[in-house]
Amino acid sequence: MKQWHALTIEETKNVLAKHNEHLSVNEIKDMESSRWFILLARQFTNILILVLLIATLLSFFLGDIIDALAILAIVLFNGLLGFVQEWKAQNAIKNLKNMLTSQCRVIRNGLELVIDVKKLVPGDCVLMDGGDIVPADIRITAVADLMINEATLTGESEPITKITERLPAETLITDRKNMAYMGTHVMSGQGQGLVVAIGMDTEFGRLAELTGSIHEEETELQKQLSFIGKRLGLLAIITSVGVILIGVLAGFDPIRMLMTGISLAVSAIPEGLPAVVTIALALGARAMAKKKALLRHLQAAETLGAVSIICTDKTGTLTQNEMKVQVIWLFEKSLQLTGVGYTPEGEFILNGEVINPQSLPELMTLLETGYQCNHARIYQEGEEWKIIGSPDEAALLVAAVKSGLSCAHPAALVKEFTFDSIKKRMTVIEDAGDFQIIHSKGAPEVILPLCTYYLFGAQENELNSDSRNKIENAYINLAQNGLRTLALARKIVPKHLKLSRKEAENNLVFIGLVGFMDPPREEIPRALATAKNAGIKVVMITGDSPVTAKAIANQIGLHVDKVITSSELKTLSDHKLKELLKQNVLFARTIPEDKFRIVKLFQDQGQLVAMTGDGVNDAPALKQADIGIAMGIRGTDVARSVADIVLSDDNFASIIDAVEEGRRQYANLRKFVLYLASSNLGEVLAILISLLLSGGLIVIPVQILWINLVTDSATALSLSVERAEKGIMHRPPRQADKPIFDRMSLILVIAFGAYIGMVTFLVYQLYFPQSYELANTIAFTSLVVLANIHTLNFRSFYKPIYTIGWFSNKWILIALLSMLGLHVMAIYNPGPQRILHTVPLSISHWGVILLCALPIFLIPELYKMIKNKGS
Ligand code: ATP
Repeated sequence: MKQWHALTIEETKNVLAKHNEHLSVNEIKDMESSRWFILLARQFTNILILVLLIATLLSFFLGDIIDALAILAIVLFNGLLGFVQEWKAQNAIKNLKNMLTSQCRVIRNGLELVIDVKKLVPGDCVLMDGGDIVPADIRITAVADLMINEATLTGESEPITKITERLPAETLITDRKNMAYMGTHVMSGQGQGLVVAIGMDTEFGRLAELTGSIHEEETELQKQLSFIGKRLGLLAIITSVGVILIGVLAGFDPIRMLMTGISLAVSAIPEGLPAVVTIALALGARAMAKKKALLRHLQAAETLGAVSIICTDKTGTLTQNEMKVQVIWLFEKSLQLTGVGYTPEGEFILNGEVINPQSLPELMTLLETGYQCNHARIYQEGEEWKIIGSPDEAALLVAAVKSGLSCAHPAALVKEFTFDSIKKRMTVIEDAGDFQIIHSKGAPEVILPLCTYYLFGAQENELNSDSRNKIENAYINLAQNGLRTLALARKIVPKHLKLSRKEAENNLVFIGLVGFMDPPREEIPRALATAKNAGIKVVMITGDSPVTAKAIANQIGLHVDKVITSSELKTLSDHKLKELLKQNVLFARTIPEDKFRIVKLFQDQGQLVAMTGDGVNDAPALKQADIGIAMGIRGTDVARSVADIVLSDDNFASIIDAVEEGRRQYANLRKFVLYLASSNLGEVLAILISLLLSGGLIVIPVQILWINLVTDSATALSLSVERAEKGIMHRPPRQADKPIFDRMSLILVIAFGAYIGMVTFLVYQLYFPQSYELANTIAFTSLVVLANIHTLNFRSFYKPIYTIGWFSNKWILIALLSMLGLHVMAIYNPGPQRILHTVPLSISHWGVILLCALPIFLIPELYKMIKNKGS
């Protein structure tokens, strides 16, 4: 691709100054994020809150001023709490989105740099590659097969071939082929151009302003909860109306009954729950980010926990992607290379002896082709050598520099036929003065059929079946040692000859093979073992050769019964393939559409599939998978933009950590939902039983609201930070569509709720003959204490607390103690006593309450102890 003179950063700034523009940031503003006052107002638009406020007004006018003010204060406090939680959740999500911002390549001061997309300014010279999302509006100045899909902007799904020529000013946006627009996808090829508009000034920015940005969808759990909430709401309103009617008929004060009924409804519906769930999910997303998994939406954490199949690529995910040329195979000569990392220092060893690479003409030819057919750069930062571009190309460059070739970028090229994961090869045409040289590199079984000659010494010989066999054996041999192999070939053609890809890539001269060492990541065997215990099947789907893939699978301990290549895959019917998918299969030399088919077939079998991908062509498979995982370092912008998760370290082990984290979060969410449901049911039952059996008001409205606040968010939230249960990765994945209130959960909620309701009623009855105030305060306190102690039951469904450690979740202890402290203050302090209508309790009263409360904790503990002993 032709190099183009880029502006310096100073010049860029001058351009800005001349046009009197402000240095704004290159980003699309989020139109949707709610302002604080809208969020605050939303807390009070809840229909139940409104009813409650009306009831407060009613009691105010009827002279019950203290009650009215107390309820008002509690409602306001509740609203504020909801507001703070939602605000924090919104900011947490925003911060996560910021972590996902992408980078782009620019030329500034003559140097190629990788910068944050936000820092792009008009006048910058941007380099674009297949898979990039165009970072701004760009006037294209150089192209090599540049194809851009503009569907995000125009809806047109066919990619457009871009050009550099001038077009008349009146050309419609959709026909401006010399422009690349922000947010559109580079499908293939390369391009270079000048930024003409950034941020909200771009066409995409204008469109975003018109349409607003995308909504954060509700997660499955949130949907389930809002559905349950609506049903509960209806039930609560019906019950409340019933309670009001019964109360009035039994001769109670109608206003008091109205308030009780309404408060009963409010207490029955955990309306603070959605906010608590959102904040817990946002906290969870932060915890995920620490485990290197950046969620693109909150649903991902939940789904991750239910994943049953992980389809993973190999290079960079299972392996380190730190390529080093280990072996160079020339016809009948095999050389070893020494050296560390990407440092361009090392020796060439032939038959155990260090040789001068310049003494082997075919070696120099190979290195030169690897050097020309290359986009990578290497540069030194302090002591360390770093790379820009693909690691295998960088490794080829390093090998070339070790032989004495210069570190600088090679000569200008006439034409390039770019690499993609379907063709599995790349070809460039070099202008070599009197003639042109075509350099090709790619998968050996792709390159070899394009060759009719091979280089032997300095001589070109015709390939026959014998020499082809030799070459084939050589690369199988390299692959069996787990080396990644590339073949290199070239040919010389006359100057000025304009060749199509097909014409350029035939009758090539095979030069040799390169074997790259790409060691597996150390943590993979452990991660695979964890996945196996957790009932998750791992399937390797790689573009690399079957032999290399199998060798790597052996090295990492991935059990493989069968290796299937893309060409075999084509011949298999869906039915046959589904059968094979039940075994331990490995897919090699795949093309991206294979990934899509495999995901679909797994899903047809009821599996929940996570799939990794990095290229632009992986986008459909990533979208189709239940969890699309893109790579943060290696992945293209396009892959990242459709994925559910971006792995910041590209590491397979992080997927397993994220699954564990997803399971923990889902388990904890479920725990606090069940906890809240059972304590709310306890409150409702206590009120109903006492109303039906004794006709009395066991707790008064203001107390119900207090209980809701005391027992609600704080203790529930402290459950969300509970550590993962020990056996969490020793169980098969949960079924994704399993309702949160399954049979077992319903039994638990009803059993606990019934206990809380019954016991509260009994203590109330016990003290009622002494005085109503005392009985009422004791019932009120029992509800608080029971619900608080009951929180501990949900720390683990399986293990008694002494095995998980009393202090392993300090937040729960802090929440419990402070809530109980608050309640003690409320019943002994004259101020709150007046508001909450309480009387002080004696030690013996507390003793009775504790005695009644302990079984709710001790019985489940005992059960867990016995079960634990047996296991
Ligand atoms: P994985 O799918 O596990 O990431 P991969 O990197 O081998 O493995 P692809 O990127 O699809 O998958 O590459 C497929 C094959 O194409 C490689 O195995 C290699 O033989 C060849 N290849 C990869 N990169 C280049 C390149 N830059 N130029 C020429 N050939 C390449």
